[in-house]
Amino acid sequence: MDFGKNAVSSLSPVVHSCVTVNNDHRGPGELESSVQQEQLRVYYTTLLDAWGQPYWWPARTRFEVIVGAYLTQNTAWTNVERALRQLHLRRVLNVAGIRRVPLAELEKAIHSAGYFRQKAQRLKAFVAFLDEHYAGSLSRMFAQPTEKLREELLALNGIGPETADSILLYAGQHPVFVVDAYTRRILDRHQLLPDKASYDEARALCESALNAEARLHTRAGENPDPATHTSSPHPSPALPHAPGRARPHGACHLPSPMSLAKRTPLAQIYNNMHGLIVGVGKHYCLKTRPRCDECPLQKFLPGVK
Ligand code: SF4
Repeated sequence: MDFGKNAVSSLSPVVHSCVTVNNDHRGPGELESSVQQEQLRVYYTTLLDAWGQPYWWPARTRFEVIVGAYLTQNTAWTNVERALRQLHLRRVLNVAGIRRVPLAELEKAIHSAGYFRQKAQRLKAFVAFLDEHYAGSLSRMFAQPTEKLREELLALNGIGPETADSILLYAGQHPVFVVDAYTRRILDRHQLLPDKASYDEARALCESALNAEARLHTRAGENPDPATHTSSPHPSPALPHAPGRARPHGACHLPSPMSLAKRTPLAQIYNNMHGLIVGVGKHYCLKTRPRCDECPLQKFLPGVK
């Protein structure tokens, strides 16, 4: 399968045909963008119908999400799980615990996650930030406007856009889409956005596409939340491991307290899409030798009839 690097400005055959028949008054750039957004919306409903609710992120508390977001940098989630277990066993997987635990013990507890010295310092720095600006209260912190808090998080050592957005979306239920390496790979291979596009470009494309999906839900009076989820435009039950449905892969897991947290329909759709993309990336869209023949998105791959 050719995933040509000349995909930067060349849209897929599907996109070209759509552009040709569209005779509205938008410019070429806007048309390309709207077609890309429509394609992403179709990917979302396709994956959701195939696998159901992903129930991402696996955590019991907001703070556990935050710690997981730090620890998962440059390592596999299985290593993060071992570190989280150690923190839990030591009863320090909370703000007060990270504040009081000696640095050396924290390093030991998170050793399995790699870069443990750096990550231990960063966790301590996060709690210091929380103490200084929000009196140690996650509720106060997450009550801030999204963009303000995003800027504050990005100013912290060790927090890049993906980590900041993971914290905002999965711990704080703020409506921001998390762009990870899997998202970029899929966008690039499907010629929707080149892999050299900036994080913010990828985020803007995904958010625009999913905002339209959320508007459809709102108009239809639906709420795509874990308890009542239906995928637009053809509602269907989407519980994990539902009979007749392919067993969820990758990011899907049993519902966790945080995956069931109350959130807006838009935040829920961002949450779902990221979880589904993790499933595609982990099991099909591998860095080398992608398993396109088994992937639910194969029919959308440019050049595939
Ligand atoms: S594995 Fe799936 S998402 Fe990746 S390129 Fe192939 S069809 Fe697309």
